[in-house]
Amino acid sequence: MYDAIIIGGGPAGLSAALNFGRGLKRTLIIDAEQPRNSVTEVSGGYLTQDGTSPDEFRSLAQKDVLNYEGVSLAHDRVTDINKSGEYFTVSTASDEFTGRQVLLAAGLREEAPDIKNFEQFYGTSVFYCPWCDGYELKDRRLAVMVDEDAIGHLVMLIANWSSDLLICTNGKNIISEENKEMFESKGFKYNENVISEMTGGDGRVESLVFDDGTIENVEGMIAKMSWDTQFDFLGTLNPKREESGKLEVSQFGETSVPGLFTAGETKTNFSGQLINAAADGADVAKFMMMQLIQEDF
Ligand SMILES: Cc1cc2nc3c(=O)[nH]c(=O)nc-3n(C[C@H](O)[C@H](O)[C@H](O)COP(=O)(O)OP(=O)(O)OC[C@H]3O[C@@H](n4cnc5c(N)ncnc54)[C@H](O)[C@@H]3O)c2cc1C
Repeated sequence: MYDAIIIGGGPAGLSAALNFGRGLKRTLIIDAEQPRNSVTEVSGGYLTQDGTSPDEFRSLAQKDVLNYEGVSLAHDRVTDINKSGEYFTVSTASDEFTGRQVLLAAGLREEAPDIKNFEQFYGTSVFYCPWCDGYELKDRRLAVMVDEDAIGHLVMLIANWSSDLLICTNGKNIISEENKEMFESKGFKYNENVISEMTGGDGRVESLVFDDGTIENVEGMIAKMSWDTQFDFLGTLNPKREESGKLEVSQFGETSVPGLFTAGETKTNFSGQLINAAADGADVAKFMMMQLIQEDF
């Protein structure tokens, strides 16, 4: 019987595990080893780890965590969680584990815009977060791929890093006359046609080919992505959600299912940064342990 089973070994899950280890709690991390940022070469913005590769960051974090006797790590994918009485059973394809508490730290499910060859460049010259990757793209000719939600702020934000922008909507007529005038006044180009493909080599995007035959040379792209946390393995427990799809949580990160907590991007339902996920994992672990300590006292 584990005190806590953590689903997901990204910064949120591993940082929680570090705190559980230091709190003398028997803890299992189950991680499918498919973090969203595995497509990137380096990560920026984490104090003391700025410029580290995602693999190196993860192996350093795992080393910290596995120093603690009570903490173990299974490289596996969770397929189901059940709660019977006070205890949870967490299943993978080949195993079953029992725990008093479960922490969901499985990150986000991510969906990219539907553009041919997008995935060839995602993580090397195409990104979504200027706070993570804007510095490396500074002063380049950049495409900014927007939807209705992002058009209002994303163009303004990216203009902080480059003034040579091409705004694209991939076939949606969503650029208002007012925005067109503003883009022109700033020297930005725009194209609302469908992008039939992206071309380039070695992960570096070089041009966008539009379905009207236009070809635009670019040196990078910031693209709006879509995220959710509708993981199949949550089906049996079915924790309550807000209208937006975000899991309903208490101020301590507990879902509507007592003992089932969430941290990191599974909790925010939105992409932040490594440092935010790690900080949140640490906080939620302490709230979870307070509950266990109270029960056992
Ligand atoms: C292209 C890109 C570039 C980025 N660049 C930066 C950057 O430069 N700086 C920065 O700070 N942040 C960056 N980020 C954001 C950063 O990756 C996230 O903020 C952070 O990883 C979120 O941490 P997390 O622990 O919540 O989730 P994740 O890191 O996504 O970890 C979730 C873990 O859960 C596992 N998992 C999922 N489902 C299951 C299951 N069923 N069973 C078991 N395990 C499961 C996954 O395999 C994964 O290992 C970038 C992200 C992307 C996509």
